Amino acid sequence: MSRRTLLAGAGAGVAAIGFDPLTRAWADDGSLAEGDRAPGLDGELVFDEESRAAAADDFGHAVSRYPRAVLRPGSVRDVERMIRYCRARRIPVAARGQGHSTRGQAQVEEGLVIETATLDGLRVRDDRAEVGAGVRWSQVLSAALPYGLTPPVLTDYLELSVGGTLAVGGVGGTTQHHGLQVDTVVELDVVTGEGRRLRCSPRTRADLFHAVLGGLGQCAVIVGATVRLAPAPETVRQYHLYYETVEALTADQRLVLADGRFDYLEGQAQWPAGGGSGWRFMLEGVAFHEGSAPPDDDALLAGLSDTRADAEIEDLPYLDFADRLAPSVEFLKSIGAWYDPHPWWNVFVPSSEFDALAASSLAEMTQDDVGPTGVVLMYPLRRAPLGTTLPRVPDEPVVFLYALLKTATPAPGVPDNDAMVAANRALYERVRDVGGFQYPVGSIPMDHADWRAHFGPAWDDFAAAKAAHDPAGILAPGQGIF
Ligand SMILES: Cc1cc2nc3c(=O)[nH]c(=O)nc-3n(C[C@H](O)[C@H](O)[C@H](O)COP(=O)(O)OP(=O)(O)OC[C@H]3O[C@@H](n4cnc5c(N)ncnc54)[C@H](O)[C@@H]3O)c2cc1C
Repeated sequence: MSRRTLLAGAGAGVAAIGFDPLTRAWADDGSLAEGDRAPGLDGELVFDEESRAAAADDFGHAVSRYPRAVLRPGSVRDVERMIRYCRARRIPVAARGQGHSTRGQAQVEEGLVIETATLDGLRVRDDRAEVGAGVRWSQVLSAALPYGLTPPVLTDYLELSVGGTLAVGGVGGTTQHHGLQVDTVVELDVVTGEGRRLRCSPRTRADLFHAVLGGLGQCAVIVGATVRLAPAPETVRQYHLYYETVEALTADQRLVLADGRFDYLEGQAQWPAGGGSGWRFMLEGVAFHEGSAPPDDDALLAGLSDTRADAEIEDLPYLDFADRLAPSVEFLKSIGAWYDPHPWWNVFVPSSEFDALAASSLAEMTQDDVGPTGVVLMYPLRRAPLGTTLPRVPDEPVVFLYALLKTATPAPGVPDNDAMVAANRALYERVRDVGGFQYPVGSIPMDHADWRAHFGPAWDDFAAAKAAHDPAGILAPGQGIF
């Protein structure tokens, strides 16, 4: 393997944004002398096979686009320089956080991947965290907890980058109270497709702010964010309540959503081991509390119609709860399923349409259709705390997240990745036709017309922001929007 690594030269001249050595790196014959240096870079620009192959993969393990090089920025200045360099040469660029999207969204054929993990600054000040885009939410939480604070909205899995989830939205069980993760952002530090570093917030360059949050990396690379923090509970009490039908589950979910009795609310459809009589449904409600003042079970469970004998109630330290997926992830890695294809399907559905859609779609599915370790999520959100233009969410007071987190493990009866993707598209069309939207982190094929329809009334502003901030159209082509 020829490892051709360009390391920043200490004191190298900044003036050379023309980057002669890099121009050679990108020359048609691919020539690049061992040890060539990229003047003015504080970090690394690497061309080796291993780095490129890693950047050509993601959690979906189904799409593979090889970049020509990978930037590990040593500074925001590196991001500015390389974007300017690429813009001048029409070289496509994609930011990559943890690469946990599933269909090449963070990949770029013959272009530059900017791995944001080295943008890792993290400081907690008062009730805010100032973070580099490559910081993972687990790290934000670890830094905030000693101050008795937490991000108000956490994704179920904490090892996602801040930049990566702010580029899509960031939904979790506390969204019902606090909105999406993008709603907790005070200010962003971005480098646009022109290579300009800009700060934006709801008051400063609001158009850019709203085009970047949930904007799928189209207008700028997020290099840093200031996010709000909230008081963290010491302990949580977690309630798993079981139901026989979608309608019974959602009736109780709507009830507890309306009175806000749980701090966290999610839910699942589960296929019992051995199949049983088909899907069973689980409401996951969580009450935050201090150990000295435990929650009132009777009040929290009042009026609910679950099969009470099956209820599971458990107290957990807050950190264990927030990081609850870690043991499952280790298990999935140990059996290899973590590395199988993951054609995930995530949508937001208007509440008025949800029960019929979920019941009819699940009636056509068994566990095999999501894979042996696949998970089905279904839970409601209140629309009111959602304040950003993007991501697109139906315009009803209550909206359901519906997610088929599929794993195409090769096994008898389990559809392969392509068949799962085709099923994703077919079911997406049913969702779209009742006013739903895809939550674009998964594997639903979309063409340009689909995207225009997806953005709907937000399209003109989004396209205008793209034209203004990424005039050469080099950013995040893996999304296939423009
Ligand atoms: C196990 C697992 C659990 C998940 N749980 C949740 C959940 O609970 N809630 C939820 O909302 N989502 C969840 N997701 C989806 C996840 O939020 C998205 O896939 C997210 O984009 C992943 O972050 P990442 O750092 O891996 O981004 P990547 O996959 O690296 O990038 C995603 C997209 O964002 C762009 N991007 C990345 N970084 C930046 C940046 N700094 N600036 C601009 N654009 C950027 C990329 O170019 C790409 O287009 C989950 C995913 C997995 C695999």
